[in-house]
Amino acid sequence: MAEQKYFDSSEEIIILCPYCMGEIEEDTQICPHCKQDTQNDAPFEMTLEEYESEPRVNCTSCGKPILELANICPFCGNHQKH
Ligand SMILES: [Zn+2]
Ligand SMILES: [Zn+2]
Repeated sequence: MAEQKYFDSSEEIIILCPYCMGEIEEDTQICPHCKQDTQNDAPFEMTLEEYESEPRVNCTSCGKPILELANICPFCGNHQKH
């Protein structure tokens, strides 16, 4: 198999904060969305396609759509009660 990987856009891997599910960079230490230390927990990795199909819920505080997996809203920083 070829050693180089070529991703089409649907297979693009994105890295998500384990707390708020906001998109972060591979070397991000403090999440720019929820200000949590992302080194304390393993970040999520998924394809853009998977990300798009993840179920969304509305934040219990600000009402914005966030990933159901998120424990913290990336918009207002409030903890979600599931
Ligand atoms: Zn975050
Ligand atoms: Zn919110």
